Amino acid sequence: MTLTAGCDVGSLTAKAVIMRDGRIIGAQVVKSRAKPEISAKEAMAGALTAARVALEDVAACVGTGYGREKIPFVKEVVSEIACHAKGAKWLVSSARTVIDIGGQDCKAMRIDEHGEVIKFITNDKCASGTGRFLDVMARVLGISVDELGRLSAGAKQPVTLASTCTVWAQADVIKYLNSGIAVADIGAGINIAMANRVAILANSVKAEHDVCMTGGVAKNNGVVQTLAQLLGRRITVPRKADPQLAGAIGAAIIAGQL
Ligand code: ADP
Repeated sequence: MTLTAGCDVGSLTAKAVIMRDGRIIGAQVVKSRAKPEISAKEAMAGALTAARVALEDVAACVGTGYGREKIPFVKEVVSEIACHAKGAKWLVSSARTVIDIGGQDCKAMRIDEHGEVIKFITNDKCASGTGRFLDVMARVLGISVDELGRLSAGAKQPVTLASTCTVWAQADVIKYLNSGIAVADIGAGINIAMANRVAILANSVKAEHDVCMTGGVAKNNGVVQTLAQLLGRRITVPRKADPQLAGAIGAAIIAGQL
């Protein structure tokens, strides 16, 4: 009946998970604040409340994410790559390739049957190919990221964005909007541009079956489906729990092994 916890403080959201005997009993996703320690405390408070336990009851908590060094209540901090790999393996046990797209980075990794990382590559140098690209574009279109993800399904003639650079692509989107092109076609074009960037990363680790997608962008069906076409492989989006929780889940699993 050991309780463990994981806390993943990302650039846009902070996530906390409480696990008991390999099952999630409480979880919370909150928007990241300027101070990572505050985001971590908010996420953990929500997860503990959902699990109906107190922090003192938790045997060990592992921290991860870009703000991990600032989380006050962790026993250890572990790299995002290791936590996301373990979390993805728990979410989709057959996963051998994991594509995680968060707010500020994109990771592609190959993992073994134990959720250990074999090979990985990260893009954290440029907004294109990250959730930030989609957030900026959704704002220009005046819709939510949630709606942007659904637009691809209704598109007839997706537009082509001349540049994947976030700044130039934004100018393209405004141009298309002003010329009266359907929002669905613009949205689909944005999702395609995003998928194109991510496919380059996924191909560089030689994506193998089964491919699983995690991180907030896994909730964008337009990106997921386009990426699946580009890779020529089915992509599994976890159903067992919110794909955005992958890093925190992995951290809670690793906490159980300390
Ligand atoms: P981080 O860990 O870097 O903070 P997340 O994994 O929380 O990032 O992912 C944040 C990104 O997820 C956002 O930039 C947004 O584009 C995307 N996202 C979050 N929720 C949704 C949703 N419901 N539909 C589509 N995209 C989403």
